[in-house]
This record gives sequence, C-alpha cells and structure tokens, in this order.
Amino acid sequence: MTVRFAPSPTGYLQLGNARTALVNWLFARQHGGTFLLRLDDTDHARGDETYVAAIREDLTWLGLNWDQEFRQSGRIARYQEALRQLEAAGYIYPCYETEEELEAKRKAQAARRQAPVYDRAALGLTAADRQAYEAEGRTPHWRFKLEGGQVAWDDQVRGRQSVQAGSVSDPVLIRADGRPLYTLTSVVDDLDSGVTHVIRGEDHVTNTAAQIQLFQALGGIAPGFAHLPLLLDASGEKLSKRTQGLSLRDLRADEVEAMALNSYLAKLGTPDAIEERQSLNALIDEFDLARMGRGAPKYDGDELMRLNARLLHATDYATVRSRLEALGLDDADRDFWETVRPNLTRLSDARQWYQVCRGTVQPVAEEPDYLATAAELLPPEPWGETTWQQWTAALKQRTGRKGKALFRPLRLALTGMEKGPELAHFLPLIGREKALRRLNGETA
Ligand code: GLU
Repeated sequence: MTVRFAPSPTGYLQLGNARTALVNWLFARQHGGTFLLRLDDTDHARGDETYVAAIREDLTWLGLNWDQEFRQSGRIARYQEALRQLEAAGYIYPCYETEEELEAKRKAQAARRQAPVYDRAALGLTAADRQAYEAEGRTPHWRFKLEGGQVAWDDQVRGRQSVQAGSVSDPVLIRADGRPLYTLTSVVDDLDSGVTHVIRGEDHVTNTAAQIQLFQALGGIAPGFAHLPLLLDASGEKLSKRTQGLSLRDLRADEVEAMALNSYLAKLGTPDAIEERQSLNALIDEFDLARMGRGAPKYDGDELMRLNARLLHATDYATVRSRLEALGLDDADRDFWETVRPNLTRLSDARQWYQVCRGTVQPVAEEPDYLATAAELLPPEPWGETTWQQWTAALKQRTGRKGKALFRPLRLALTGMEKGPELAHFLPLIGREKALRRLNGETA
C-alpha cells in the first residue's frame, strides 16, 4: 500500500493539513505501506522554499516520518510526456477562449439557469479556426475530454459516489502559458509512484471523477479514494487558510504537545472517545479509516488544551527531561516533575512551580499568629514524604483547626498561591529554610 501527503507549499500547514497527513501516515504504518511526501509546487515557484522547509519541520514535529519525498517542479518533462501521450490518443483538445470569454459564457448559462459546464465549443474548431486564433497571438490551453456516463467509486469515507460526467466541465490540464495543472500532475504522480489510496480533503471530491477517467486514459487503474470532511470552527464555519491561530506553527507556539494534537486529530470525526495517547504507535493500533465519519467535525481548542493537560499529567520524566532543561529549569528532577505535572496545562507552566521551589516567593500571610504556630511546629530536617502529614497533624492538635482553615493559610504562605501541587510532595522540594521564612512573612 502506498499513500501520499501532497501539500502545496504556498503557506504553513494548517490543522486540516495535519489531519490529512496523520490519517495517511496512520493508514500506511498500520498496513506496513509507504508514506510519500509530495510537494505540489508547480504553481508557485517563488517564496516556496520557506514553506517547503516549514512543512518538513512541522511533519517532523508531529512525528510523521516519510519514506520518500519528491517535488512536482522536478517532473515537468514527465507531465509533458503524459500530455503528448494523451494528445496522440485524442484525449485532449486545444481551446482558445480567454478567461473573459469563459466568464461571459458562464454568465449566459447562469441567466438560462444552466450549470456552468464548459460547452466544448473548441471541439468544433477547424484547422483554419485554430490558425486564425494563433495568428491573433493566442496560444491554446488544453482540456481533457471526459467520457459521458456515470463515474462511480466506493469512497472509503463517503461511501458509494456517482457523478454524471456531463455535469462536470472538461478539466484544463495545461494552461496557455504551458504550465501543467493539478488535475494532470496529481494523476501522473499517483500513477508513477504506485499510490494505492488517495486520502485527502473533501474539497477534492469534485476532481475525482475526472481524475478517475484520466487514470484510465493514461493506461492505469484508479487508486482507492477516501475524502475526509473539512473541519469546522466552533461556530460551524469552515476553517479557512486565512483563519488566524490554526497553523501548526501557531499551535506549537501555544505549546500544544505534538501527541496531544495527534491524539485529537486521530479521533476527531469518529464515534470514538478522544483520549490522550503517549505515542503514535498506540494510535496506529487503534486506527480505522472506516470510523471516520462523513459529517464535518468541529474543532474545539479548549478540548485540545484539556487533552494537552491530561497528556502532560501522564508524561514521564525521561520524556520531558531535556525540554525542562531547555526551559531553563536546570535542576528539575524526577521528584519535581512528578510533583508538579498534575498542575500543568502547558509544559512551561512548570516554570511557576520551579520558581516556588527554587526561586523566591512573596508569601500571602493571612493569619500571622496561626502561621507563627505553624513555624514553631515545623519538623526538623531531614524531610520526606511523611513530613507534611506529621506537621499538619501536630498543628491540628495544637490549634483544633481542620480542613480548609488548617491548610489554606499554609498553602498561601508557602507558595503565594491558592492552588497548586500536593503539599505533601511539594513541601520537601521547597525545603525547611524557605518554608520557615515564608511562614514568617518574608519573601524567600
Ligand atoms: N496539493 C493538493 C492540495 O494541497 C493535493 C490534493 C490531493 O491530495 O490530491 O490540496
């Protein structure tokens, strides 16, 4: 099995691209197949390099490794050869209409309440007509002549699809300036690279009938198709490329963990519960293309962040160690990590807890008398797992306090905050010296 992810390097990868890439990757890895990265870069020669590099980097960040990579811009000669083959077999025909003339035809069709399907006027051109156009300085664009009748395929997401070929315009395969277009390049590449399954966004469903005929015209067999519905935002609008905040770069800058995003996108739009997974291997085992629904799923950023938090809560020290160092938390050891991780939504939230253990805190000293008693009863070092219990039991006995009245002033004094990690674990990390000074109301 061979699949491909075929982004056009005209911008940064968006959430929807990540989903397409992930689904292709999971499908390939589950079946021991090949995952290709194809860069659809025939259209935009300049400015692409930044995006090409960004695409590779973003996929690598997600953990989606590819087996081979190629660029369409390196295959122009091959597309021309395919065009010659199609021309020799009578599958394509030259057209001379300008964009304005085509637009006028579409307007006239709209006025007659007809579908804006190309009228094939160019099929009736004689050699003399063509010469006359060329004498005017026009160069032709070439259209693929669709065969009539129904084109059907079993879409692995949408089910049986059937399109009346006459309801679609003959697609342009090559522009007047000689540039080959996506409908052609994609099919030639899918044929040459032995793609067995085309898994892509629903925005391409309208190209599929023509592409199936083109596969056949080129002497090949069409692959299987699966079209994933496009993601919607919370208000039910399509996530457009222009929507801010939804490129992988932005999500990464917002500290979304790659595995949180993978876990989210692998299940979004399926009837399965979205749960955090620590590895892509776990997602490979669970993946089933057939569970991807037809209905457009809504992206929910809050849900993604909740998943991010749950993922961090279950992440082990070895996995994050170097990243904690990169955040500048040099002595963040296993104890520290295991103590603070239940309080994190983003990894960098660990900073504030590091500050509480290793840096200085401005204590909130409510009820100084009570805190003075607490300071007096603070057990001597060495401190361990039972220190907190010992200390608060003694305090409870001495003051008769319990529950919130017992604990809250201690937390506020020791951490400067209302909420935070379990103090039983956290107190030994803070240490006696700082604890004592904070209980006395000092910034320490
Ligand atoms: N370059 C196309 C896109 O980004 C690829 C479509 C396809 O997968 O066939 O939409």
